[in-house]
Amino acid sequence: RKPIIAIDGPAGAGKSTVTRAFAKHLGLIYLDTGAMYRALTWWIHYKGIDSNDEDLIKPLLNNLDLRLFLEDDYKQQVWINGHTVTEVIRSPQITADVSLVATHRSVRDALTLQQKKVGRQGGLVAEGRDIGTAVFPYADLKIFLTATSRERAQRRANDLRAQGFDDCDLYELEKQIIERDNIDYSRAIAPLRQSSDAIVIITDKLSCQQVVQVLVNVFQD
Ligand code: C5P
Repeated sequence: RKPIIAIDGPAGAGKSTVTRAFAKHLGLIYLDTGAMYRALTWWIHYKGIDSNDEDLIKPLLNNLDLRLFLEDDYKQQVWINGHTVTEVIRSPQITADVSLVATHRSVRDALTLQQKKVGRQGGLVAEGRDIGTAVFPYADLKIFLTATSRERAQRRANDLRAQGFDDCDLYELEKQIIERDNIDYSRAIAPLRQSSDAIVIITDKLSCQQVVQVLVNVFQD
């Protein structure tokens, strides 16, 4: 069977960039599960529904057409119910609300099921918060990427500037990252956890290439 690699960790630890480069290096599919939670959050906003209200969110899950496309350059395009949302799901409004949406059991059940279907054939590198613990507990390799909140805020600021969101207050970004960590670590269902069999990599002061090199070495062992 082709391998399944799980990459988990808190926001801004460099997961997306590293996972994409690593998947490309191995010629495997890249799956960014955070994008699925973000796309659903966008749809909830679009429908004018309160993100707290699981009873109103549930019916949306029955008619969800959520698609991820991997382009040649390994950029993942995101569609939900006929709308292309690749860029808009990175906006501060979605980022501020996505962790709340991700606390609902019905939401996690629906998206986890879809992720498991993608993984049925194997041959993928998936990143998120619960990949090694809940989605693919039998993954061939589990990595936990983390970094200090200051470093993660700095990276988020760089990402946001590159996307044209100019008013980045580093202190404010760090506060938001810590808030999101707290929600992700403390939620009742599939909280962010380091799987006991995961290899932990602290990415402060490491470049993307350096982290990918560590992963390649670990994978070959
Ligand atoms: O990785 P990203 O920052 O895009 O994820 C956005 C949010 O989606 C996370 O803060 C978390 O609340 C949620 N998420 C999750 N489980 C995953 C991936 C993301 O709960 N597997």
